[in-house]
Amino acid sequence: ASQKNGGRQHPRWVRVNTLRTTVDEQLESTFKGYEVVATVAEVVDSSPTKKVLCLDGNVPNLLALPQGRTADITKSEAYKGGMLILQDKASCFPAVLLDPRPDGDEDLIDGCAAPGNKTTHAAAILEARGRGATQKVFAFEKDGHKRAATLRDMVRRAGCDDFTEVFGGTDFLRVDPDADRYARVGYLLLDPSCSGSGIVGRDELPELCLPRGPNEKTTPPTTKEKKGKKRKREDENDQNEGKKEMPVMVIDDDGETTILKSQADLRTRITALATFQTAVVTHAMRFPAARRITYSTCSVYAGENEHVVLRILQSDVARQRGWRILERKEQVTGMKEWPVRGDADACGGDLTVADACIRTYRDDGRGTMGFFVAGFVRDSDSDDEER
Ligand code: SAM
Repeated sequence: ASQKNGGRQHPRWVRVNTLRTTVDEQLESTFKGYEVVATVAEVVDSSPTKKVLCLDGNVPNLLALPQGRTADITKSEAYKGGMLILQDKASCFPAVLLDPRPDGDEDLIDGCAAPGNKTTHAAAILEARGRGATQKVFAFEKDGHKRAATLRDMVRRAGCDDFTEVFGGTDFLRVDPDADRYARVGYLLLDPSCSGSGIVGRDELPELCLPRGPNEKTTPPTTKEKKGKKRKREDENDQNEGKKEMPVMVIDDDGETTILKSQADLRTRITALATFQTAVVTHAMRFPAARRITYSTCSVYAGENEHVVLRILQSDVARQRGWRILERKEQVTGMKEWPVRGDADACGGDLTVADACIRTYRDDGRGTMGFFVAGFVRDSDSDDEER
């Protein structure tokens, strides 16, 4: 049966890997006999086993199929041969928004890469745009064991191993931006570890995982230091409300499940993640030739999303190097039309930043998991003396 969530059904999203095949080829082979329908709603409303599919309108080369057809895909030669990749629609947004182009000879970094869905997607976009033989992808993964092995395997299966270098067991924060090897890096995709709160469904989340979504009220990290005392009082209030003893479950997107003891613990966790996420993006901003960055999470908390974006924009490196938000009007077709944007309150009322941010929610009927992505752009070779 199709996957249900909050009464909504989700399709099975399948990315056609253009490094190995094309949509037309797949329609003529793996999906021969499938009816191509106009909307995702028609896919999820159809019988779970009906042979229907829809070509997505936001992400090129992405198909929506009924969940009941999953076995068709995973047993197919195309899947085994890396031509088809199971990847949620929202998880395809970062590479699309990054929009890497062979304008010159710019290389691309994925700073937090395993298992490699976004690395291979970004690589496919570079290749599909008529990459000269010179562009490279550098993929970093802190875990030097299983996750790095999975990443290597995915890069090989997807067919981008000839221009993708995998650095397993490497902390991106320790990579030297000024190393000669990275002198041509123009694009960086950052999808760091997060709470994973967008992966779980609303009805699966323990009540204490609130607040979540656009109306959550967490203190923006930018004012955290100033409001330390207020935060402490709020935490005490939470405890006084008897919430302290109730467990809070956080499923990290790295696959870890953590049981936190209280709402205050959750807030501490989100604050620590936000500090790390900010560090990853501001580090990326130091690469000398970098001109476009995407930041994404599969979290629904503003504390890991809009608040992190604001903090990045206010950072010294962003100001000194001329980084700014990639505004909606500048975004690639498919992303600028996506209707669900950042929360204006969480952006401190900055409507340009809110509109630049892209959100998805797991149970809003659009068939995606909960996700967040924002882009940063640098127009000129600003002074970088103070890096
Ligand atoms: N982008 C990946 C994809 O779409 O397949 C998912 C990335 S997952 C959200 C975050 C990854 O970053 C994890 O594999 C984690 O081990 C890795 N990571 C965490 N901290 C890191 C760091 N400092 N440097 C490099 N990788 C890191």
